[in-house]
Amino acid sequence: MPEAPDLEIICEVLTRGLVGRQVTEAKVLRPTVLRSLAAKDLPSDLPGRTLEEVTRRGKFLLLSFGERMIVINPMLTGALQLSAPKERVLKSTHLVIGFGEEEELRYLDETQMGQVYYILPEQLPKVPRFSEQGPDALSDGITLAEFKARLGKYHGEIKGILTRGSVVSGIGNAYADEVLFAAGISPFRKRRTLTDQEVERLHASIGRVLSEAVVVLREGMGEVIHHKIRDFLQVHNKGGQPCPRCGAVISQLNANQRSTSYCRHCQPGMLLKN
Ligand SMILES: [Zn+2]
Repeated sequence: MPEAPDLEIICEVLTRGLVGRQVTEAKVLRPTVLRSLAAKDLPSDLPGRTLEEVTRRGKFLLLSFGERMIVINPMLTGALQLSAPKERVLKSTHLVIGFGEEEELRYLDETQMGQVYYILPEQLPKVPRFSEQGPDALSDGITLAEFKARLGKYHGEIKGILTRGSVVSGIGNAYADEVLFAAGISPFRKRRTLTDQEVERLHASIGRVLSEAVVVLREGMGEVIHHKIRDFLQVHNKGGQPCPRCGAVISQLNANQRSTSYCRHCQPGMLLKN
């Protein structure tokens, strides 16, 4: 799934390429990802409007067209593609927004789990999961005191808490693995077992890992925003490979279309459940 660093670059690219331009056409090829909140009138209502701003909040992407707004929650496999209209339309394309003869913005989604809303700006708080988000992990950051206070409300495994988005928003499956590796904390540790020092390390790792990723992605993605670049990550999806810190084999568990990768040596403290 696109996470805060990926969406940050997508925002930059779309701002450079499309902000200030007028929509000339809007086509819904597969309506499954379009949700309520007036999404049905998108093809007829959007053309003629000008894209005024592209922003990100956590794992949501917001396209502002003045009196209307497109809100995208890409979930597991949603992606955006900026392409020329003559380029082949990929099978997973759900929505196409044309900006003149040169450029099209397409929303792709392999699993159709993503959600696209076409709303009035004041409806934003009604978008599911939007208002429950914690402070943004990347742009505003979160103070240690607030991180501790928000974390304290949750029990269960620390990775699940980080990806939920209500403590801090913008971290998904991949960057949760990376942040926990950087902090030297097992993804399976229960929140209550974390020491103050470990919570501080975790807090520091969030800001550092995500902002470093933005730099790498900015360099690597260019204008090709529908491909996720993940090869530079330290442990995520690198099961079986040597840990970059200690050389031990990285462990990986796969469940529910999500994987968890970690180094048992660098992230100790929890026996695996059978
Ligand atoms: Zn290691």
